[in-house]
Amino acid sequence: MSLTDFPASPTELVTRLLAWYGRSGRDLPWRNCRDPYRIWLSEVMLQQTTVAAVIGYYLRFLERFPTVDGLAAAPLEDVIDLWAGLGYYSRARNLHAAAKLIINDFGGAFPADVDDLQKLPGVGRSTAGAISALAFDRQAPILDGNVRRVLCRLCALQEPPRTTSAEKQLWHWSEQITPTEYVHDYTQAIMDLGATVCVPRNPLCGDCPWSEICLAKKSGLENQLPLKQPSKKIPTRVEVTLLLCCRGRYLARRRPVEGFLGGLWEFPAMAVTTDEKQEEKLSLLCTDFGCGVEVASLGKIEHVYSHFRLKANIYRAEIDDQPRIAEGEYRWFSLEELKKIALHGAHKKVLVTLVKIGA
Ligand code: SF4
Repeated sequence: MSLTDFPASPTELVTRLLAWYGRSGRDLPWRNCRDPYRIWLSEVMLQQTTVAAVIGYYLRFLERFPTVDGLAAAPLEDVIDLWAGLGYYSRARNLHAAAKLIINDFGGAFPADVDDLQKLPGVGRSTAGAISALAFDRQAPILDGNVRRVLCRLCALQEPPRTTSAEKQLWHWSEQITPTEYVHDYTQAIMDLGATVCVPRNPLCGDCPWSEICLAKKSGLENQLPLKQPSKKIPTRVEVTLLLCCRGRYLARRRPVEGFLGGLWEFPAMAVTTDEKQEEKLSLLCTDFGCGVEVASLGKIEHVYSHFRLKANIYRAEIDDQPRIAEGEYRWFSLEELKKIALHGAHKKVLVTLVKIGA
């Protein structure tokens, strides 16, 4: 695909967008702020999460860690616990690692340059662009999910937006449209347009400052674009999950902080490979935790991670005395406590099953 120009000049697009932003921009806790720490935190929290879900976490996080120094000095487990319920926990691990890097490699001062910002764990080109533009007024393009969708529609891109060539095209458009002046407001404005008007389903084209220009709107394609990405095949893993209950409290352990889902909590579980029997694995698991094999099946859940699909068969067992457990950070939790800890995604669904049956 060749590099295509906009359906109007970047100046006209930006002028219309800024006028709309002046009338309709959102008032959010991280707005009117030039503090790179706060902007970074909001940008990371907003990745894959809605504004409504983020606001409370953002304010609590800042109360607990008002500066990057405090965040860098805290134990990772504290950061993960504060993140509990927000999901995508790699963001919490990356925030913590990046805070340490800012202290150790940048003398405690946030870098302003996009290339330097991308050295921080969890900061890709778009987040780096947002921090650079919003905190330091640098002409730095962004391409988050909202901007990607808006540009796909504005220019009627006839290609799924995550292909290499589409990605190149979209970055080119984002570079072209990002102004040298008012870059702070422009960056907020285009994110707001995607979040409130050019929304994924049924965009509100009647409220859009680009409705007379937008190629998707002109062609009646606003609901078809962006084109869907073909889904990729991923392997399936099966496990048996044991909800071990002792006098109303359930056993869970924190996964080691290093590695996949590091620092998150989970119920005792064992993987079942294709040549193994589920009953045998369940029996082994029960033996490990000192309960008989008198377990009740609570059904199953499925959860998709980026590189595999997990099918968990859930069992519940009741014991009278807490067993001695040799290894790992195991603790007993009431149902109310389980709702508050940072369980990983699959076992959050397991908990929902448990709560539904009212155990
Ligand atoms: S006119 Fe509609 S589809 Fe086009 S950018 Fe605006 S809201 Fe999106």
